Parts: sequence; structure tokens; C-alpha cells
Amino acid sequence: MADTRTSRLPLMAAKQILVVEDEKPIRDMIGFALRRAGFEVREAVDVRAARAELANRRPDLLLMDWMLPEMSGIEFTRQLKRDSDLRDLPVIMLTARAEESDKVAGLEGGADDYVTKPFSPRELVARINAVLRRVDPAVEGAVFEFDGLTVDPVAHRVLARGAPVALGPTEYRMLEFFMTHPDRVYSREQLLDRIWGGNVYIEERTIDVHIRRLRKALEEFGYDRMVQTVRGAGYRFSTHAE
Ligand code: CA
Repeated sequence: MADTRTSRLPLMAAKQILVVEDEKPIRDMIGFALRRAGFEVREAVDVRAARAELANRRPDLLLMDWMLPEMSGIEFTRQLKRDSDLRDLPVIMLTARAEESDKVAGLEGGADDYVTKPFSPRELVARINAVLRRVDPAVEGAVFEFDGLTVDPVAHRVLARGAPVALGPTEYRMLEFFMTHPDRVYSREQLLDRIWGGNVYIEERTIDVHIRRLRKALEEFGYDRMVQTVRGAGYRFSTHAE
């Protein structure tokens, strides 16, 4: 099967930030600063618009204003953290309130960090990078290893007991995703969203094709057993027996 569409996707795309802020001047200032720092920026004026953006495509991080019309940013963050698909999406809360008790409430609500207005663009970018480094192993430069199978997200390299494993770009991204999210079942829909991005049109059975290719590449080293089918649910990467 031809694979031109997926192989054209950049491997190291700019990180996408969704800014949820109702005040236009602040949204514009943040958008300007983040774009200049190399981020791809999407904007939402309220919770409803943010939900639509999230359904369209998963960003790498949410910058969430505390004071929003209708529903507060903290309540929305709580809702996201109860959503199994979105709970690991990092959230930085923006607020005009500098009180320690508010900070605690924000973090307990599930925010990963907290920036108090007024902030400098430089500070904001630094905080975003710090949170992304914590959640994204590729930014951190970590290498992941399971029973002798190693993935290096920075070098985009996979080694099986020291021997290079030849993978296509999509199989590579799939394996990197699996190895950085082990022992969890992902549906085909979730894998499409997490590996390709939600607004790319690909049939779900395409996942099965890439899973087969990935297993085939791992087979000669005996690692194909780690890419497991969970009947009726999807796929899982695990070193434990199926
Ligand atoms: Ca506001």
C-alpha cells in the first residue's frame, strides 16, 4: 500500500499550543510571543471554542486563562483531567491572581504549572518549554528501553539488543508512541489522533497495516510479541505476555 501521505508528515513538527483566553489583547500578545518562539498557536475565546479545537486536533499544550466567561479555566481543566483521552494533555493556567491559595487550587485542579499576569513573554515561553520537557521525552532527550529494545526519540533510532531496526517513518512514530506509553490500551481512533493528528483523513484499518509492518520489522528480534492486539479494544505495547 502506498504511504506517501503519512511519510510526508514532518517528524519533528512545531509544538502546538492552544491558547484559551477571552481577552483579545492578551490573546494577541501571547500568540505573537509564542509564534516568535517557534510554536504553532491556535486560539479559543471560551470553553466552547476550546472544545471544538480539541475535537479537531490535539495540541501539545493548553494555555488556559482562569477567568473565562460561562465556565472558569479551572473547572474546564478539572473536566479535561477526568477525560481519559485528554487527561495527559499538559495545562498551564494563566491568572491575574497571585495568591498562594489560588496557585494551590490551580495545581490541585490538574494544571501542570501556573503563570501569574502580568508575565513577560520570555517567562511564559520558558514555563511552556519546561512543562513540555517534563511530558515529552523527545524534548528531554531520554532513551526508552524495554528488555533490550531501545528507542531514541532525538536520534529517531530503534535498536534491538544493539542492532539497528529498519522502520518506516510511520512505524517509527507508532513504536515511539507505544514505548513512551506502555501497558495502556489504545483504540484505533486514539492511535490515529495521537500518531497522525485528528484532522488527517486516514481509515482506521490503515492502523492495522502499520501494526503488521511494525511487527514484521520487530519479528526477527522477537519483539513483535510486545505489540499486542487487545480484542475489541485496540492495541497495547507491553513486555508482559498478552
Ligand atoms: Ca479572562
